[in-house]
Amino acid sequence: MSTAEKLELLYKEIRNCKKCPLHKSRKNAVPGEGPIDAEVMFVGEAPGAREDETGRPFVGRSGQLLTEMLEEAGIPRDEVYITSVLKSHPPNNRQPRKNEINACLPYLHRQIELIDPQFIALLGGVAVSSVIGNRRLLDYHGTFHKTDDRTFFITYHPAAALRFPEYKQRLREDLMNLKHRLGGD
Ligand code: SF4
Repeated sequence: MSTAEKLELLYKEIRNCKKCPLHKSRKNAVPGEGPIDAEVMFVGEAPGAREDETGRPFVGRSGQLLTEMLEEAGIPRDEVYITSVLKSHPPNNRQPRKNEINACLPYLHRQIELIDPQFIALLGGVAVSSVIGNRRLLDYHGTFHKTDDRTFFITYHPAAALRFPEYKQRLREDLMNLKHRLGGD
């Protein structure tokens, strides 16, 4: 089976998933999207209301900001893979619960295996703590974290950047830094 076929099967599994209570309230699970050979994977927290309606990641206000900031940094959105820790929308955008993260995280790990990106950018505290363990964003944003087989990049979630101008500026600089590592200008 080709990687594309494996990814399609994974999407199907996610869309039908009932492994945590969020399946009862979601409209659409949001597996993720992007090229199968993407050099960078962005991992957010969970789908919001707009994502829940459309089944697509980062299409609400946070997504628009992320898209703009990526373009500004010289990273076209359609060249990166975008997903989140949870694939189903938590009601009222509440924080993901531990049992939901534990149930959903294996999907993200399988996506990482299939896409095999050069860098995995973790957006915000939930993505960071779920994937590599707790790090204070204030101290670690803009830095890379290497494990045996992966390189992670730590930065803010665009939703936080929408609320706080100083986070927006840090996210902007972090994305420029990431672009620099990708071999840009
Ligand atoms: S959040 Fe993840 S584990 Fe929970 S129902 Fe959705 S896809 Fe399944």
